[in-house]
Amino acid sequence: MTSMVNVSNVSKTFVLHNQNGMSLPVLTQANLTVSQGECVVLHGHSGSGKSTLLRALYSNYLVDQGSIEILHHGHWVDLAQATPREVLNVRRDTIGWVSQFLRVIPRISALEVVMQPMIERGGCRKAAKVKATSLLARLNVPEHLWHLAPATFSGGEQQRVNIARGFIVDYPVLLLDEPTASLDTENSAVVVSLINEAKQRGAAIVGIFHDEDVREKVADRLYAMQPVNTATELQSQCA
Ligand code: ADP
Ligand code: MG
Repeated sequence: MTSMVNVSNVSKTFVLHNQNGMSLPVLTQANLTVSQGECVVLHGHSGSGKSTLLRALYSNYLVDQGSIEILHHGHWVDLAQATPREVLNVRRDTIGWVSQFLRVIPRISALEVVMQPMIERGGCRKAAKVKATSLLARLNVPEHLWHLAPATFSGGEQQRVNIARGFIVDYPVLLLDEPTASLDTENSAVVVSLINEAKQRGAAIVGIFHDEDVREKVADRLYAMQPVNTATELQSQCA
């Protein structure tokens, strides 16, 4: 199987500015490869760095060391070295991201929120609307909400809009941070189907799932996160 994601020796230490510059090593030489059609589930206690590793894969922050290679239009791009423009291109065409919470986009309807990634990729509005409505219906978002801005939706409704947005484009790589956290069993089952369909078409998926039942249904492999070391003072401050 072709690998799509290749994380090599990635380390990240957060400096806690509100705690006298204490340092918190969260990722220490993390290595992870994900192939086409495979779903790797990050597993570990709360605070073990699962979201931090997922955010590194979306290049949400700079890592201290290591490489984060993504196969983008047949070429490897190392997000740890890429320019901001390259990162945006990789995100637009290659990486779908479903965060734990919807980043609320003011004043546009749920339907537009879902359609947006497909339109940004050059898709026509008509096709985007067909796909968006089908995803919203599948995820049981009531039709009377489609034309309203999601700011006033319940947590579960917002999350389902967020999931529809993440699945509207057939991204080669999908990053899912607890997408089912605020969903009931019926909607979690829809997400499981969407993930398995994405695997069938060859997507490489990295996900975090609290629910053991969901994990069992989607995971090809578990990636155990090491417990985060407790914060230690910066070397320079000890000297
Ligand atoms: P998980 O997703 O496994 O619950 P996270 O990756 O969210 O864990 O967080 C791992 C640790 O890193 C936690 O102790 C968290 O407080 C810390 N952390 C995460 N992001 C930051 C940040 N931007 N600044 C400082 N500390 C952070
Ligand atoms: Mg997390």
